[in-house]
Amino acid sequence: MIFSENLIEVTYIIATALFILSLKWLSSPTTARRGVWAGELGMALAICGTLLYRGIVDYKLVAIGLVLGAIIGVPLGKVAMTAVPQRTALSHAFGALCVTLVGTSEFYLRAPDITPLMMAVLSMEVILGSLTFTGSLMAAGKLQEVLPQRPITYKGQNFVNLGTLALAIGVAVILVMHPDQVKLFPALIFIPLVFGVMLIIPIGGADMPTVISLLNSYAGLSAAAMGFVLNSKLLIIAGALDGSSGFILSVIMSKAMNRSFTNVLFGGFGQIQSAAAGEQEAKPVKSATAEEAASILSAASRVAIVPGYGMAVAQAQHKVRELYDALSKRGVDVRFGIHPVAGRMPGHMNVLLAEADIPYTDLVEMDDINHDIAQADVALVVGANDVVNPAAKTDQSSPIYGMPIIEADKARTVFAIKRSKNPGFAGIDNELYFSDRTWMLFGDAKAVIGELVKELSGGSGMH
Ligand code: NAP
Repeated sequence: MIFSENLIEVTYIIATALFILSLKWLSSPTTARRGVWAGELGMALAICGTLLYRGIVDYKLVAIGLVLGAIIGVPLGKVAMTAVPQRTALSHAFGALCVTLVGTSEFYLRAPDITPLMMAVLSMEVILGSLTFTGSLMAAGKLQEVLPQRPITYKGQNFVNLGTLALAIGVAVILVMHPDQVKLFPALIFIPLVFGVMLIIPIGGADMPTVISLLNSYAGLSAAAMGFVLNSKLLIIAGALDGSSGFILSVIMSKAMNRSFTNVLFGGFGQIQSAAAGEQEAKPVKSATAEEAASILSAASRVAIVPGYGMAVAQAQHKVRELYDALSKRGVDVRFGIHPVAGRMPGHMNVLLAEADIPYTDLVEMDDINHDIAQADVALVVGANDVVNPAAKTDQSSPIYGMPIIEADKARTVFAIKRSKNPGFAGIDNELYFSDRTWMLFGDAKAVIGELVKELSGGSGMH
């Protein structure tokens, strides 16, 4: 018995170390793959250690849970990379539901013999778990567009929302003082479930990835609270890591968009500005053929490629690699300008370009590329929109005003690949497309870049 308890402890310590190493390794593209393996191994060890626990009464139920989890988890792991934010939100919803259910069963098993401290932690676990459950489902629904993306706001909304949360905390305080008031417990679950829905209603689709990262943080904190309740150091550490990394990520994303948390949570950003989009249709843009663009690209000595969400949608990264090779072969200095929130999740562009084996040394961060982008002969914008929108610097009335951008507009010539004149995620007009120096290459990013590669490699040249 002692042997198996020691074995469990050792397994948990190794799992904890692997979780910490995983986060460390995930922070650099060169070690990220190792980080994923470390995280997976850590989780497998944590599950195995728990299965050795002698308190387990029925392995049949555990097996059913594992099979059900695999049936849901395997397809979830196969979604397109552009759908990862909503997939992540679903994972948080499942995690939070689990935390709430465990908290609920622990309450009914222990009540009324619960110390005030334990009841306070248990309440925090259940409140955070419940609100994260419905909040994450709402966030996933908005991103998947099964729910309307636009923020729904009304007068006094913040007052109603904060009042609802205060009510849940009030119930928790009563239960801490009188844990025998068992009848009140369902309210501790129900009120935060409603609050989770109300929390997400006023937030627009454009802010959803940041909110998901924040919900990740709540899910981590609720798991850490569950660790206290179950007396599991592993859960406390894993939950704390999850909670703090989610929080740090939200801060990084907010900074990259020049938004404050309060602005994200209460700002109503992400409304599609149909007036601005309408105006855009009327303005003239210049477009070029692949042949024209290829001849300018091949005459350039420095090219800055700025990838965005459209490259991810088109899965154009491998064609982009071919273009990079074709230009490099001609002696053109090609570098990629990576905006921290290009695409739909942090690091989205790095992952795609790494998948196509583009050297990390040519992926340049926003501040560095901006430093000398004015010396670039060509900025080639591949399905990026908001992250190259000069309105962020010049138009104080713009919802993205203040967001740092990649200054593609400063390059001598700009080619912008996208399918139409439609706006990007923030739903706003982009002056870059109407600039004298910009030529549009309309079409799917993969197809357009394929044509450019063909031209550069002495292809048909016919249009
Ligand atoms: P974006 O502003 O959403 O623009 C993407 C552009 O790609 C669109 O204008 C679209 O134009 C084009 N596109 C779509 N499919 C295409 C295809 N198959 N081929 C060619 N073009 C295609 O993207 P972004 O510049 O990368 O900016 C990211 C946005 O997401 C920002 O507003 C950012 O704040 C927000 N966001 C990102 C994160 C994150 O972590 N990365 C988090 C929160 C919010 P067409 O429809 O005309 O083709």
